Amino acid sequence: MTTTTLAIANQKGGVAKTTTVASLGAALTELGHKVLLVDLDPQACLTFSLGIDPEDLELSVHHVLTKGLDPAEVIIETEDGMHLLPATIELARAEADLLTRTGREHVIKTAVEDLEDAGYDWILLDCPPSLGVLTVAALTAARGVLIPLQCETLSHRGVGQLLDTVHDVRRFTNRRLEVWGVLPTLYDGRTNHARRVLETISATYDLEVVEPPIPKTIKFAEAPAAGRSILATSRSNKGAQAYREVAANLVARATRRPGK
Ligand code: ADP
Ligand code: MG
Repeated sequence: MTTTTLAIANQKGGVAKTTTVASLGAALTELGHKVLLVDLDPQACLTFSLGIDPEDLELSVHHVLTKGLDPAEVIIETEDGMHLLPATIELARAEADLLTRTGREHVIKTAVEDLEDAGYDWILLDCPPSLGVLTVAALTAARGVLIPLQCETLSHRGVGQLLDTVHDVRRFTNRRLEVWGVLPTLYDGRTNHARRVLETISATYDLEVVEPPIPKTIKFAEAPAAGRSILATSRSNKGAQAYREVAANLVARATRRPGK
């Protein structure tokens, strides 16, 4: 299998991008796939939630993107088994540094290409909550984008803007980028409201809905403090199970439509 690179993006914060990256990473690893997660948020929540204290790191994704360091020199293996290209707060400077640099949209794509021989089946990119340089660079490196969405009335107001950015990326930097769909997160299946919002969004923007929705469960709040994904801390939790099913569906999709 070739590498499938997916960007997990939504410029809204708190929609479970980072949780989705960690949980899908763990689920794909359980399925026997070799997985690399890339933390692209200067807040370094993904890095922290996988048991690594960003303050202990000398090298991070910042050095790869702005100084051309070989990503293999920075990647660490997490306790859950997936590999991580970690972030630190220094990444906040990368956004500014890159703004004036030629080829800035391609810095992540180049890093991913440098990893071609590492044999990753999946590279998941955890985007920051903005449509800035790092998100555009992630979309430029990706074959697909997955959009986590909290099904509340106003949560989809940013989706149009995100899709405009996807459109621009397709036009200028990455023709093959596909929207893999929206993933309903923090889903409260007891309300009809959530399902209605979801239907409206998929109809309004003509987007696929990736199944199953991820239920809201308190266990997600507990996992990061343990430095493990929810799949390890609460193996049979319904949220963990939902992510396993989503992972299996993504594998089916990647197999059905192999990348070029
Ligand atoms: P983002 O990366 O989009 O900002 P996070 O993944 O950091 O979002 O999630 C935001 C918060 O929501 C975190 O505190 C996380 O633990 C919590 N969370 C994520 N998914 C769920 C869920 N399915 N049920 C309950 N809480 C969740
Ligand atoms: Mg995040």
